[in-house]
Amino acid sequence: MQSITILGATGSIGVSTLDVIARHPDRYIVYALSAHSRVEELAAQCRQFRPKRAVVGSAAAADQLAALLRAMHLDTQVEWGEAALCDIASNTETDAVMAAIVGAAGLAPTLAAARAGKKVLLANKEALVMSGQLFMDAVRDAGATLLPIDSEHNAVFQCLPANYRRSLAPAGVTKILLTASGGPFLKRAVETLDAVTPDEACKHPKWVMGRKISVDSATMMNKGLEVIEAHWLFGAPADHIEVVIHPQSVVHSMVSYNDGSVLAELGNPDMRTPIAQALAYPDRIESGVAQLDLTQVGTLQFEKPDFNRFPCLALAYDALRAGGTAPALLNAANEVAVQAFLDERIGFRQIDRVIAAVMDALPHGPAPSIEAVLAQDAAARAAAERIIAAGALPMTASA
Ligand code: NAD
Ligand code: MG
Repeated sequence: MQSITILGATGSIGVSTLDVIARHPDRYIVYALSAHSRVEELAAQCRQFRPKRAVVGSAAAADQLAALLRAMHLDTQVEWGEAALCDIASNTETDAVMAAIVGAAGLAPTLAAARAGKKVLLANKEALVMSGQLFMDAVRDAGATLLPIDSEHNAVFQCLPANYRRSLAPAGVTKILLTASGGPFLKRAVETLDAVTPDEACKHPKWVMGRKISVDSATMMNKGLEVIEAHWLFGAPADHIEVVIHPQSVVHSMVSYNDGSVLAELGNPDMRTPIAQALAYPDRIESGVAQLDLTQVGTLQFEKPDFNRFPCLALAYDALRAGGTAPALLNAANEVAVQAFLDERIGFRQIDRVIAAVMDALPHGPAPSIEAVLAQDAAARAAAERIIAAGALPMTASA
């Protein structure tokens, strides 16, 4: 029996994780669940999964949740705030932690899980992008097991040898090929992108996801963050990580070897596959995902990404090559810009402009501690808000 904490239980990944867990009551029990503000959904999850603890984002949400749970005669302990999140992620009573909070808010509890030597199922790519080396050091020092949930990285993980040691050459690996659907605007005329609405940007052709990652997929910043994520997870230099547009989202990513072999992981686009793979690793369990029928898919297409159409992808490669706190700056500026776009304060094509302006305005440096990373994160957020408030951004990205 494995005891599981789910950080971000009410989100898209959280709900898919509980769906897989519900199929295997003989293997998994839920120790704790967290949600930010969706108290009613969290209460319903508590009724079904009977966690010992539930954590929310504010005192008011905690009061509301406690009242709902009392009415259901449940004795789940209700807490709120970051310290409680870190505790449910690191407590001796939990074996594995699904890190599925969105954005920088997930860093502290995800790091707490790593430092406590847990099995960390990593969906929260922003945490790793921000803290890179520090996070990987924590995993190594505490003997934690880090398993990627992001479908691309989960695919790469499955295509690498079992004894892979975060170094490409000894394993004969020449390249990591991350596939990308290209999002909803792959073929739309670039000039019309100024006018797209948040709902249009969130309508992903292949995956149903939270709104932040959906916008990231539309700008391809999601793939940029994934390039940085792949660098840390697999010890791959930027030049050895390539992005390939693959609109069908059936090949979830690939690994090239020096003998000419290319290994790929294929499946229907449904996050329950990587979630089940990581939960049960090294076993295999049923996930609820339909078997892939390649004769139904018919055609698989691949093309090079257009960096002019997707400037965020280039910004992310630049940040990875710059190193230090540059990825943390990139991530923070992106979070603020995406929220501003979702709030209709800036246009879609201003997202990359805000990020580029923040990267230009703030010097990046070494990242010796999490405190230094968080200070840069705060500075980048303030700079992005200032730039947006000044309203001086051009609508169209310069070539
Ligand atoms: P979502 O928006 O659907 O859910 C986010 C979860 O985080 C919710 O449970 C919410 O309550 C919680 N949360 C939000 N803000 C918080 C805060 N300030 N403090 C504490 N908790 C907070 O997002 P999602 O699509 O499930 O994505 C979650 C993470 O997984 C992201 O990092 C995303 O990049 C990654 N991911 C998602 C998918 C996908 O298919 N959805 C695929 C790969 C990776
Ligand atoms: Mg992904």
